[in-house]
Amino acid sequence: MDPAIKNDVNENRRVFSTLSIGVGQFSIRDKILLLPEMSRRGNHLIAGAFRSFGVNTRVMDTYKGMDLGKQFTSGKECYPCQVTTGDILYALKDEKEKLGEGFHPEDYVVFMPTAEGPCRFGMYNKYQRIILDSFPDFKDVKIGTSNAREAYALDGMLEKAQETDLRIVGYFAIVVGDVLDRLLWRVRPYEKEEGITDDFMERSMHDMATSFEKYGAKKEFDRILDHLQEIIEEGKSIIDPSIPSKPLIGVVGEIYLRSHVQSNQDVIRLLEKYGGEVVNASIAEWFNYTTYDRLREAKRGLTLSLKQFHFSGTKTYLKAMIKHGAELWYQQRKQDQVYDRAKKVMPLAGDHRVGHLEKILKEEDLFSFEVGTETCLSIPGIMAYVKEGYNGVVNVYPFTCMPSTVTSAIVRPLMNRMKVPYLDTPYDGTFQPGREAAIRTFMYQVKQHFERNGRVALEKQ
Ligand code: SF4
Repeated sequence: MDPAIKNDVNENRRVFSTLSIGVGQFSIRDKILLLPEMSRRGNHLIAGAFRSFGVNTRVMDTYKGMDLGKQFTSGKECYPCQVTTGDILYALKDEKEKLGEGFHPEDYVVFMPTAEGPCRFGMYNKYQRIILDSFPDFKDVKIGTSNAREAYALDGMLEKAQETDLRIVGYFAIVVGDVLDRLLWRVRPYEKEEGITDDFMERSMHDMATSFEKYGAKKEFDRILDHLQEIIEEGKSIIDPSIPSKPLIGVVGEIYLRSHVQSNQDVIRLLEKYGGEVVNASIAEWFNYTTYDRLREAKRGLTLSLKQFHFSGTKTYLKAMIKHGAELWYQQRKQDQVYDRAKKVMPLAGDHRVGHLEKILKEEDLFSFEVGTETCLSIPGIMAYVKEGYNGVVNVYPFTCMPSTVTSAIVRPLMNRMKVPYLDTPYDGTFQPGREAAIRTFMYQVKQHFERNGRVALEKQ
């Protein structure tokens, strides 16, 4: 073989083998687990949940490594890939600088979940693996992952007996994080004194992470809920009751961008600045969707196997159906428990059931769950906001994001016809000079809608 071709073949082999050796589901026992910060509250609570199982877990600083993120990407990748790549490199370089000779790359696992098409999320961790391999000091840092395809099972990460418990407690942390987010958006537009909500939420987030650390592995969920109730009571006392209700805006979009305030240039705060109250789609919604989709797939497989008298297939799909059906039932039950406790103290926006969202899509014949991606949630999520009486909707996403662009193409003409204010806000890290003007114009329309129609009472959701 031509030596040049032989070199290329060997190089390809090396790259492909590192993608299976250096990315996957590894044991995180006795490792330092680094989590990216997507949703600030949610991720800190998840870190608390992991720590309760004895895993040394930290949330990486975010957005401080944007220069590195830009340096090691071409600009064609999705924006969240650029941001998380920067976060990972910044965290590892920082650790290396602090520890010097005491830095041992094999002690670290960076957590980067994944998904399987049709968009590019599944490629982030592979691309980041190739980048880490280009640094001699970071070659031995592993990238740990869990896949939407397996409804984010954490197989192989801890001892077998603890894997399911970790997933349960992690999910609970996500839901509690969602409720803390809803508390922030409910209280901040009506705060008695500017800035007190942010300080209160930051303190509450750390306190709640400690609760997860203390009670998570023991699954003492009632203690966590008692603590959540105390936080909500305190949050309620921050509201100035003399401030009249403001128009309500629903946010949908790509999960990273709509949750990561640095990447979306704090769009929720900007909407609040111009007179709105905002509810963002939850993180648990995506998590539930992945479980729901596995259940759908198992049902479809079962029907097909029965039609073809394929008995081993029937057994496999039946087992999968029972497993994912039980998981979904349990997740929704836990979610209800958390929201019920919170709503006892004050009205907060509820979450949409994925089954309900699919029903909306079918009724309106707008899109299909067969295609997948977040479009399945964003389109019916928008329709649900409209039916509930929200005064406007914002779609937040990375520039060129495929599912969100599809959402925009389908929903924009509908919103025009229904006379509901709608705004697309794509982000790519640059500052668009017209963005604030677009938001002010949108808010003007939202206020007109509010004056004509009033707004939904959150307790009626
Ligand atoms: S959802 Fe959008 S941003 Fe995320 S990987 Fe897919 S195309 Fe990229």
